[in-house]
Amino acid sequence: MSFVPDAPPVPLHGDLAPDDFRRVAHAAVDWIADYLEHPERHPVRSQVAPGDIARALPAAPPTHGESLDAMLADVQQTLLPGITHWNHPGFFAYFANSGAYPGILAELLTAGLNANGMLWITSPAVTELEQVTLDWLRQLMGLSEPWFGEITDTASVSTFYALAAARERIAPSVRTEGMAGRTDLPRLRVYCSEHAHSSIDKAVIALGLGHHNLVKIPADDMLRMRPDALRDAMAADVAQGYRPMAVVPCVGTTSATSVDPVAAVVQIAREFDCWVHVDAAYAGVAAIVPELRYVMDGVDGADSFVVNPHKWLFTPMDCSVLYTRHPDVLKQAFALLPEYLVTRTGSEAVNLMDYGIQLGRRFRALKLWMTLRAYGAEGLAERIRFHCELAREFAGMVHFEGGWELTAPVTLSLVCFRHVPPDMNEEALAAHNARIMERVNARGRVYLSHTKLNGRYTLRLAVGNIRTDREHITLAWQELRDAARAELAGG
Ligand code: PLP
Repeated sequence: MSFVPDAPPVPLHGDLAPDDFRRVAHAAVDWIADYLEHPERHPVRSQVAPGDIARALPAAPPTHGESLDAMLADVQQTLLPGITHWNHPGFFAYFANSGAYPGILAELLTAGLNANGMLWITSPAVTELEQVTLDWLRQLMGLSEPWFGEITDTASVSTFYALAAARERIAPSVRTEGMAGRTDLPRLRVYCSEHAHSSIDKAVIALGLGHHNLVKIPADDMLRMRPDALRDAMAADVAQGYRPMAVVPCVGTTSATSVDPVAAVVQIAREFDCWVHVDAAYAGVAAIVPELRYVMDGVDGADSFVVNPHKWLFTPMDCSVLYTRHPDVLKQAFALLPEYLVTRTGSEAVNLMDYGIQLGRRFRALKLWMTLRAYGAEGLAERIRFHCELAREFAGMVHFEGGWELTAPVTLSLVCFRHVPPDMNEEALAAHNARIMERVNARGRVYLSHTKLNGRYTLRLAVGNIRTDREHITLAWQELRDAARAELAGG
């Protein structure tokens, strides 16, 4: 399929004529609608080998301007094979990032407006829509006022900011003096569950706290952080002269969507005068569903939390939200005002550059705002609830089939499971299940990923894509059983 065969080349000076843009853009929108209407035309996981895409591209830049048509044709012919289709309903790997139409449209408008909300005055609507939309999201999740929110690109960055604020609260001199060679600073420690996401490790490393100062707390048999073990670890550290800085419980762990006991963690953290940052990157939005609101129990007592609308709220990549009860501390950690950024807008105007590393700010709030408006609380809850139902149905299929087992409780929309033929030890089971997964993923109709839980290799089927329906779950199960059968037959 060609986009617009007679589109003119981009001129050497200036931009396209508006009518030429209109023509090409209409064709591109038609292409997107067609693509999303028939995603099954593409293998969900890209099947190219490393280097294939780079080799298919010219090594040198063009000397003369080329037509948009040529570029769009290349997107289709050369780049599309190298795309893994996160918007495909058979995408069950990792956690879904699926973009619904309202957010896709918003991204187009965002690029057209090209607003940069680095300061309030550089686009008041960017800042104020962000604040209003994040307050809507807070209300949707049932959290009490006041929470200050800001949008970042990823949960990894949101968590980095939160831990920077935690450090600022108890060791503000680090901002000016640094940490190296200090004898007046105790060693700061951060605590999270053994199942926490690696973004916590990265934040600790990047903040110069030292990876050894991230203490992994053992979990119970439901894969939740054990409060008794947390208290013991913190008390032992204090006895040895460490200073507990932050605890990071998780609502919806990556491997198993287990939910740490946030209220108990908050209580313990308070005993040690410690910041609590909740990683609810994936599962926080489940609280939009009234009967799942319990997942965020205790979060109102925390100091900050992160939730990612780009994961399970159908907002196109990227959109992560950091909330904190202490914007003043976050600001203390990051604010810096060179003369060229001084404005006379008064204290009521929030300059979001004060709350993180970045100066420039994309208009990400628009896509979240449009998504929330398009679905409303009921529409969002209905989709999230449906995903949890599908996960339970899939778990039922696994549970009732001989030779398969569930490897973790199904708390939300993730199923952890594996094939367990008789007479295979752990090592053989891991290799066998890895081969099953590769067979399924190579066929390209569905895409799964894996993890390890308590040393056991585990397949993961994560439901979270806006376009996933019952038939895709059935298909995934059929593909898995076929692959297992073929593996055992050695075919
Ligand atoms: N926290 C949890 C629980 C996650 O599952 C993930 C990613 O899946 C992250 C953090 C990191 O998310 P991001 O890619 O937005 O940095």
